[in-house]
Amino acid sequence: MTVRTRFAPSPTGQVHIGNIRAAIYNWLFARHTGGKFLLRIEDTDRARSTPAALQTVLDALAWLDLQPDEPPLYQSTRTAAHLAAAEELLRRGCAYRTDKGGTGQGECVLFRMPGTDLSFHDEIKGDLVKQAADLPDFVIVRSDSTPVFHLANVVDDIAMQVTHVIRGDDHVANTFRHIALFRALGAPVPKYAHLPMIVNAQGKPYSKRDGAAYVGDFRAQGYLPAALLNYLALLGWSPGDDREVLSRAELIRLFTLARVQSSPAQMDPVKLQWMNGEYMRALPPAARAAGCRDVLQARGLWNDALPAEYLGRVLDVLQERVKLFTDIATAAYFFTEDYPYDEAVVQKRLRAPGALERLAAARSAYAALTDFSARSTEQALRDLAAARGASFGDWVHPVRVAVSGTAIGPSLFHLLEVLGRHRVLQRLDKTLARFTA
Ligand code: GLU
Repeated sequence: MTVRTRFAPSPTGQVHIGNIRAAIYNWLFARHTGGKFLLRIEDTDRARSTPAALQTVLDALAWLDLQPDEPPLYQSTRTAAHLAAAEELLRRGCAYRTDKGGTGQGECVLFRMPGTDLSFHDEIKGDLVKQAADLPDFVIVRSDSTPVFHLANVVDDIAMQVTHVIRGDDHVANTFRHIALFRALGAPVPKYAHLPMIVNAQGKPYSKRDGAAYVGDFRAQGYLPAALLNYLALLGWSPGDDREVLSRAELIRLFTLARVQSSPAQMDPVKLQWMNGEYMRALPPAARAAGCRDVLQARGLWNDALPAEYLGRVLDVLQERVKLFTDIATAAYFFTEDYPYDEAVVQKRLRAPGALERLAAARSAYAALTDFSARSTEQALRDLAAARGASFGDWVHPVRVAVSGTAIGPSLFHLLEVLGRHRVLQRLDKTLARFTA
């Protein structure tokens, strides 16, 4: 039996990480078993399934490189097949028409549940059972002749010859109904695997109130698709050892449903950031620079006048401070003379007694250096500290605030070297003029 899995999103807006994780697990399972990964667009909600929502789904899949092996099936094109299945169920006595509520608004079709307890083996949750009393008959075709989700979902899974349904555990309760439909339609019941919910730090379903929750958010924030894929693969599954940075090939080789956990998986944005930093580090320098350049250009911080290799030198200095492409924007002072001064830092570092005098002395020493490098700029401040007193830090902090406006940043002396003497002296002069009363 060739494994056939499918991702069956309802395109109604953004793509939540829980949904795309279902796609990732379906894709990994299909690749691991040499099967097929299929896509079904459950676009029967005509009001919400807009072309833009559909494009969002397709973009998310393309960005993460989760390409289906067959053309997508659009559920909205399948109404005739869904209704034909309902007719078949009526003929077999497994369904009946009724004017629900007696409103005179027309008859709907109800599926007749078998009247026995139902059970199934979930590949992740184990054996699940539901009492007959909790399994009432249910509508499969509305009075306006539109098929209901349960019918469409099952009829299309049969048509697509899906062997494994891997989806969120919000569908567990539906699965009892779906199994009954498969049986009534005389079709083999697929295996089911319901994925644990993604929760926040409080154990509640992770939502946009908790932070970035949609694939598009992470893309906009500068995450690398490979890092997000790796992180989400681990959100509810583990390879059985403590390895975390795993290539696509390794994920495919190691993935099994048996190692998917049944308890909720907690979204950890800090870990995702760390993961992204790992992938950033592994990127070829040119690719890292290109991603950062896009961010700088989008924010109007790109400066064509700076030398071609300048961004590469900045990234060498920033190193692991750039975990996301967008982190480059936190070091805008590398790219513009118009950087803001952090008021609290100015207060603490430039308004401290003697700070501006030390800054002026540093300016003179830097102007006199024959070679302007990380080493020489550091030595100059050490010499000043030794000769004039005050701690080395008291010499360092005002210079940092003057050239960057902030207290946070990479090694000051490497920052100075990359800026170069001309810009450093300009910035020291500007700062002295601005804050000397
Ligand atoms: N359209 C359903 C959803 O997005 C699909 C459920 C399924 O995978 O069967 O939840």
